Amino acid sequence: MTEYQKLIDELTKNHILKSDELLQLIECNDAEALDYLFSKSRQCRELSYGKDIYIRGLIEISNCCKNDCYYCGIRRSNTNVQRYHLTTEQIRECCRLGYELGFRTFVLQGGEDLYYDDDKLCLLISEIKKEFSDCALTLSLGEKSRESYQRYYDAGADRYLLRHETANEVHYGRLHPDEMSAKNRKQCLYDLKEIGYQVGSGFMVGSPYQTTKLIVEDLLFLKDLQPAMVGIGPFIPHHETPFAAETGGTLEQTLTLIALIRLLLPHALIPATTALGTIASDGRSRGILAGANVIMPNLSPEDVRQKYMIYDNKLSTGAEAAESLNQLKEEMKKIGYQVVVSRGDVIKMKDDA
Ligand code: SAM
Repeated sequence: MTEYQKLIDELTKNHILKSDELLQLIECNDAEALDYLFSKSRQCRELSYGKDIYIRGLIEISNCCKNDCYYCGIRRSNTNVQRYHLTTEQIRECCRLGYELGFRTFVLQGGEDLYYDDDKLCLLISEIKKEFSDCALTLSLGEKSRESYQRYYDAGADRYLLRHETANEVHYGRLHPDEMSAKNRKQCLYDLKEIGYQVGSGFMVGSPYQTTKLIVEDLLFLKDLQPAMVGIGPFIPHHETPFAAETGGTLEQTLTLIALIRLLLPHALIPATTALGTIASDGRSRGILAGANVIMPNLSPEDVRQKYMIYDNKLSTGAEAAESLNQLKEEMKKIGYQVVVSRGDVIKMKDDA
């Protein structure tokens, strides 16, 4: 048995490794060892979630943002974005369409848009939860005060997605302007967890200045946070950002990391992200075969999809579009998995430690 296989077996058994061992696996490009890793991560996910694929209807409610993250296409300094925010009635209409299609989770994602104050958001949340009482509602609206998070939770929100982006403060500072900090981002995540949300975190793979050592820090941060969901996807440059000329993250690196995260956090809900589907036509399927179990098709009104361009060439058609769910179902069936009509909540997490 090779050294890699030994490490993979240990990770499969104990769900943790030492930093230098994780580093070795992250850098592994031995095809046989990677096949072995993926077979273990698939088994691990099947023990928790079988062959079910959970779908989430992603509604991109606004591309207005007060932040200026260096990597993001909808950062406030990009004056070439045609800004929009959906009305609450438009958002509810998206949910109605999604419900008909079989979605039982809606994700409201957007820039940090001051148009949606807490009163507006709470009303929207409670209206959606009243109309779709068998559905889960996920928010992904960035950094807010603990009081605001509490209000959204009390109004009925179930889950919150907030990628930590990078666990390392210096690296965080190279990706964001001074007014943002890794410390605050992490505090938001701990607040969300304490309030009772199912919390999702994650990071971009191959972001500028990222090193393998930094990725190890990300994995250990996730292990410590124990989120219910982990979203990772390749960094893809956007031509109107300071990182326009940077190199993007790779499919291979992202797949390896999905598999490692699956083994570190066996019960996590892990999406095969749009970014993964954008850099490779079979990216989503390969993400599932590496241990992911969630897909988030786009349920936004078609006329705004092109305006939510956080990176170049972001997919919003084909199997990425909610209305093409049959195409996605076929793709999943071909690789032996089935899309299910379910809220797809996280299963018990007490064994993950
Ligand atoms: N404003 C919310 C927030 O900060 O969490 C949600 C929207 S934000 C655009 C969603 C995610 O998009 C970020 O967490 C980031 O990881 C990802 N993202 C932004 N720009 C990207 C890029 N150029 N390539 C890949 N992912 C990107």
